[in-house]
Amino acid sequence: MTFEEIGLREEILEGLDAMGFEKATPIQEQAIPEVLKGRDIIGCAQTGTGKTAAFILPTLNKILEKGYTNTSTLIIVPTRELALQIDMQVQGLAYFTGATSICLYGGGKKGDLVRDKKALSQGVDIIIATPGKLISHLIMNTINTATIENLIFDEADRMLDMGFYEDICRVITFLPAKRQNLMFSATMPPKIRTLAKRILTDPVEVSIEISKPSEGVDQQAFVVYDAQKTPLISQVIKDKPEYNSILIFTSTKRKVNEIVKTLSKNGVAAKGISSDLEQAEREEVLMDFTTKKTRVLVATDVISRGIDIKDINLVINYDVPKNPADYVHRIGRTARASTTGVAMTLINQDDMHKFRGIEKLIDKEVPKYPLPGDLGDGPEWKAKSDFKKKPFNKKKKFYKKKG
Ligand code: AMP
Repeated sequence: MTFEEIGLREEILEGLDAMGFEKATPIQEQAIPEVLKGRDIIGCAQTGTGKTAAFILPTLNKILEKGYTNTSTLIIVPTRELALQIDMQVQGLAYFTGATSICLYGGGKKGDLVRDKKALSQGVDIIIATPGKLISHLIMNTINTATIENLIFDEADRMLDMGFYEDICRVITFLPAKRQNLMFSATMPPKIRTLAKRILTDPVEVSIEISKPSEGVDQQAFVVYDAQKTPLISQVIKDKPEYNSILIFTSTKRKVNEIVKTLSKNGVAAKGISSDLEQAEREEVLMDFTTKKTRVLVATDVISRGIDIKDINLVINYDVPKNPADYVHRIGRTARASTTGVAMTLINQDDMHKFRGIEKLIDKEVPKYPLPGDLGDGPEWKAKSDFKKKPFNKKKKFYKKKG
């Protein structure tokens, strides 16, 4: 379906043309007409599906139609990286509409608050904010909430995982009751349904299959001892000079630093990104990776969701992510749109059961490859858990814990 057929206004079509978006993606086809009708939406879609434009486009359309003169739209997101990325799309898509936006997030520089207050007092159409910073502004009364009619949540599941449930409920108390609400989430666990029930009114459900990585990703797994991990990835990186963009995920900040150090020792230049870095440094590291100045980036899950970097050739899971859905998010960084990419996962003995959980989620067995000759053998892959089930003891009674 084209965007003309969907019925978006001319100023927006011009922006789409400038951005090179020709046809609506499936989530856009499902969501945009419903948002234009004024319905609340609960959308299940992961990054890479075009979900950002699915909520930005109809919102911009509404801003033009209604001719708001003050802040009309609040977009709440879990991380500053996602806020900045959404803001970039808003700026691109809104270029010919004259709509303005601002990003509010914590951890910025000293003068940010003064600048933000000034911008807010002048009136912006769209505020994109992380929950904590948003609450600070709401308490300071720097946002004119009376005119907010469009409330959007992106990566709602991530926000709840990060413990923002109370903050979100608090934000709602500042907003007018009459609003259009859109909630997007990569997964739909019961707690999201509960939140949706509390916030949305008779929502239309739109959904794009989430638990299957894109067909273009060549998924590979290597069963290794911990000591074999860095030699293996150093070798892979050196053997593939044609890969100019490689993203390595690991679970902790400490490991990010360790991997960067060891790779450098092995002659592979890499940079690391984690929540340890100051905001400005994080932006710089991300920018260098996006523009291909940095070939290898080592990251925690901070950037696995939401961040859209094009043309990553290889994603390496240095360890198996705790949450199977995070595997899909991590490897979703490669093979975006119709391109192809490789995703390698290193599995040690402790992580085998977690990886089996991932295979169950994606309903696919990922091939386990032998290690290159000089690295020696890794542990044996165990397709099923070796733990013997304890015999059920009929006599055992279960008591409810008191208190
Ligand atoms: P998202 O899922 O919102 O993170 O979007 C993923 C990527 O798809 C972004 O780089 C968007 O710029 C791009 N995109 C979104 N919608 C379209 C479209 N209709 N046609 C082409 N690219 C798109």
